[in-house]
Amino acid sequence: AARVDPDGAQRIPFSFELFPPRNADVAARMPDIVARLAALRPEFISVTFGAGGSSRSTSLDLLRRIRTTTDITPLAHLTCVGSSYAEATGIIREFLDEGITNFLALRGDPPAGLGEDDEFLGDLRTGAELVQLIHRVRREHVSVTPSLAAGHEEPRWRVGGRPGATVCVAAYPNGHPRSRSIRQDYDALLAKEAAGANLAFTQLFFHADDYLRFVEGARTAGVTMPIVPGLLAVTSTARLRRMAELAGEPIPVGLYRSLERARSVGARREVGIAHATALALDLLDGGAPGIHLYTQNRIDEPTELLARIGAIERGGAGLHADRMPAGTLSRA
Ligand code: FAD
Repeated sequence: AARVDPDGAQRIPFSFELFPPRNADVAARMPDIVARLAALRPEFISVTFGAGGSSRSTSLDLLRRIRTTTDITPLAHLTCVGSSYAEATGIIREFLDEGITNFLALRGDPPAGLGEDDEFLGDLRTGAELVQLIHRVRREHVSVTPSLAAGHEEPRWRVGGRPGATVCVAAYPNGHPRSRSIRQDYDALLAKEAAGANLAFTQLFFHADDYLRFVEGARTAGVTMPIVPGLLAVTSTARLRRMAELAGEPIPVGLYRSLERARSVGARREVGIAHATALALDLLDGGAPGIHLYTQNRIDEPTELLARIGAIERGGAGLHADRMPAGTLSRA
């Protein structure tokens, strides 16, 4: 059942992604970033993980901060690329020991200098295999540490799957670079769900139709878990170029020109937020179950975007919107 706020309005669910800090300046600001994003009441705050384990301790520190200083559910990204089975098991146990019980299971990208066709994987070859391993290790862990089974409120987006754990996965509306056809992406997502994934977050994309078409195709292929679109307010041409590379899409010319024409930081920020707001509203109107925001450790743009789509009250942590009909969660 959807959460309904006291005034009867239905909430637009949203979540945030953070990077572990890469320098002392960001590390010093992190407590404030976490506190201010948590005050907006997201469903989760997820923390990225450097492929190959490069950010293992800084990711864990940040997840621990979210767990111990807020009441928001921390969600740990984990990658398995280059890991042996024993190493991946050890990392999952280490996170569970810290009370981190919800995961985003990823294969991870090839190491620098290698391509998709090179041999770079370890014992686990896909995100689906990591999903399966997380469930297995977690079951064993809970049986020896039952107190970990309790802890956090079940996130609203967790539907189906195995009790007590959200294991999310990645989805690619414009196809993963390794895929030869979009059908292969549907199959990869189906394999993740069969392994026990119960929520998917998408890679970045530029057009609402990319997402809506993908969800329709995935549903036809048999995927039932919610597929939450991942969004970012792009406020510079450099970032837009990087985003297009990640999305595997041509740079959207209109947005690029608007960013180029904008003469100040404030004007570029407005272009990026306006574009992301329009996209978010189209996605929600099309049946998206909520939105996942790639914050890039920023507070202002995500907050402004959420205020514009009516997911939060301006200037406060209230969260009221009357946009989403009941049952939206099960539709996308
Ligand atoms: P998989 O889907 O397991 O595999 C990639 C491709 O292989 C598939 O798309 C498909 O083409 C093929 N494939 C796999 N299984 C099958 C199958 N059963 N049948 C047919 N084809 C199959 N990277 C990081 O390093 N750290 C992060 O924190 C991080 N966070 C991310 C968060 C999100 C929301 C997203 C979308 C991506 C993130 N990434 C992160 C990037 C991710 O690691 C890369 O995109 C990686 O190349 C693919 O990981 P995956 O788990 O989706 O791979």
